[in-house]
Amino acid sequence: MERELKISIAHLYPKLLNLYGDMGNIITLKKRCEWRGISVEIEDIGIGDTIKEHDLYFIGGGQDKQQQDVADELFKNKDFLTTERDNGAVFLGICGGYQLFGHYYQPFDGNKLKGISLLDAYTVAGHKRFIGNVTVETGFLTPSTLVGFENHSGLTYIQGDTQPLGKIIVGNGNNGKDKTAGARFKNAFGTYLHGSLLPKNPHFADYLIELALQKRYGEKITLSKLDDTIELKTHNSLVGKAY
Ligand code: GLN
Repeated sequence: MERELKISIAHLYPKLLNLYGDMGNIITLKKRCEWRGISVEIEDIGIGDTIKEHDLYFIGGGQDKQQQDVADELFKNKDFLTTERDNGAVFLGICGGYQLFGHYYQPFDGNKLKGISLLDAYTVAGHKRFIGNVTVETGFLTPSTLVGFENHSGLTYIQGDTQPLGKIIVGNGNNGKDKTAGARFKNAFGTYLHGSLLPKNPHFADYLIELALQKRYGEKITLSKLDDTIELKTHNSLVGKAY
């Protein structure tokens, strides 16, 4: 009898940061666990809530105004979330949420939004809005690509020990200049890829689930294979496509 496995997920501020259906990432993580008999506990975190310990923390994208409301709240939890990161917890931030995982986001108008520095990165407003399909070549996934779409004006620069999620093949990525896409430090990940990201990138979803299981149980647990024919057919149909 296989042991009962479980992961717990915190969905950070879904009422404010859920642009372009980013909660599709939560649905994907939940279904890909349940299809394998892994139970999933999901806690939506709202403004004023205390963030408790979880195996995986997810935050979606949003416009500058919603980011401002969340930034102040997230910053109150910076120390706790930094400890969680250092204990191996998994973080996935999309676009506006990704920007808040860095040191700051400086929009065109208004004050600089403080980030929680899970990633050694910073974001400044750009003059151009990057909108379109994106293909990323990663060095750690199989298949090696990630696909999605971007819609942001923020320009993100990564530094120090924080590494890009991959190299831009199609699209703009972090800043439209250095050909980097997303960021990773320890098990904290950020990306501009909406879509939502994980339904068309099941291999990345499983990668994150295995990291979350490792954080919870202290050992590497390899997931059983699912029939991803449809998901990967969709993925492959988008690789390299700008339109
Ligand atoms: N407001 C941020 C920007 O435009 C993030 C937008 C988003 O989350 N799609 O860069």
